Amino acid sequence: MGQSYNVAVIGAGTAGLVTARELQREGHRVTVFEKANQVGGTWLYDSLVESDLLGLDPNREIVHSSLYKSLRTNLPRQVMSFLDYPFVKRESGDTRPFPGHEEVLRFLQDFARDFGLMELIRFGHEVIRVELVDVVSHDWVVESRTRETESRWESKEEVFEAVVICNGKNTEPKVAEFPGRDTWPGLQMHSHNYRTPEQFENKIVVLIGNGPSATDILREISPLAKQVHLAFRGSDIKLINLKNYDNAWPHSPIECAHEDGKVVFQDGSIVEADVIIHCTGYKFHLPFLKSNGIVTVDDNRVGPLYKHIFPPSLAPWLSFVGLNYRALVFRVIELQAIWVAKVLSGKVKLPTQEAMAASVEEFYEQMEKAGWPKYHTHSLQNDEGEYASWLAAQSDIRPPKSWEEITFFSFVKGIFGHGENFRDTWDVDKWIQEIESSD
Ligand code: FAD
Repeated sequence: MGQSYNVAVIGAGTAGLVTARELQREGHRVTVFEKANQVGGTWLYDSLVESDLLGLDPNREIVHSSLYKSLRTNLPRQVMSFLDYPFVKRESGDTRPFPGHEEVLRFLQDFARDFGLMELIRFGHEVIRVELVDVVSHDWVVESRTRETESRWESKEEVFEAVVICNGKNTEPKVAEFPGRDTWPGLQMHSHNYRTPEQFENKIVVLIGNGPSATDILREISPLAKQVHLAFRGSDIKLINLKNYDNAWPHSPIECAHEDGKVVFQDGSIVEADVIIHCTGYKFHLPFLKSNGIVTVDDNRVGPLYKHIFPPSLAPWLSFVGLNYRALVFRVIELQAIWVAKVLSGKVKLPTQEAMAASVEEFYEQMEKAGWPKYHTHSLQNDEGEYASWLAAQSDIRPPKSWEEITFFSFVKGIFGHGENFRDTWDVDKWIQEIESSD
């Protein structure tokens, strides 16, 4: 056994649960703070929506999950498995390869129960401050609050030797900016607050974006809506074929919106719309972290972080698990959690602070040279296979060679090849077997 520390984990979604399991396996003492009353994070569907549907009001009551009621996974269960805990089909459950969200929640609940994690979790505890109070003994104060009555909160401070932040990245909406947005008279919402299609019956809807949420929402509302107009960058719709829809049209991004209800697109077209839905992604949000400016969120870059995880000057006492996207998220989270737990126990060594800082700088320079925008710092679109292999090697894990080939982007390509009904038409088992046997 290596060194054992008193570690706080913030969040009991996928990242928090896997991190808690790995920390426990390494012999650390773990306390998980979770503001909800159940595990699951994003996968805990909530029919409630926020009071400000665009998510601009900082004082709104936050609803954590962004799931819509009909959501099915966009990745197959095979790659939402953990190394020694596969996401298997249960006879009584949803056996589809791309199951509904309830099945993922059940999987995470089973995971938490089977690894004895429930006892480690303080439910209903929202972390409101994480602050380093002693540099030498690396004491962190974690202040959390619990709701006593509708309007009264009780808060408490505790000290930990290390903190792992796993608070998720799909809750704080990023919205499109265009002149006239704030005075346009129609209904505007972010996809974070979309649940079901009924309210769009007979409406003229503008959908901004062409990612998975925009395409799923288009598919769901177009049978009810009068018209759907998609506003997005780029020359074609990537995941969806608009030819299959007789009431949907593509446009360039919105140029401006007027008080008479007109929405003007950059290509000169104009529609008089009732609703604008911003399917424009999310922002990292760390309101509780007081790091004296050491860790900042700048244009969606949380940094500086060595390998998306450790701030060099605070390592290994502060870390992040689950910041990456455009990746097979469950797999990456598990490898990150294993690494963090082993680094803390001293079994795996980090480079010096200077070497980590230099590595971060080099990464930023590479991004700049490649013209890759800052807000994509944590996207693994270009190097997921390499990053996963690197993480695995750090912890001496030998995943199948096929892992380098099976990435988020190989799935996106598969989706193109199978059209918009990919969830029901694609034989993913066969596809994975073919890749594995060609090893
Ligand atoms: P979360 O699941 O968001 O968990 C964070 C947890 O932290 C929550 O429980 C939250 O309550 C808690 N928390 C936050 N702040 C605090 C605080 N201050 N104090 C205490 N607790 C706090 N991934 C896939 O692999 N496959 C898919 O098909 C897929 N589909 C998706 C569809 C949608 C619409 C969205 C939004 C995401 C999807 N994802 C998918 C990505 C998804 O984010 C990951 O699967 C995974 O849920 C991320 O887990 P996490 O633990 O990082 O974050």
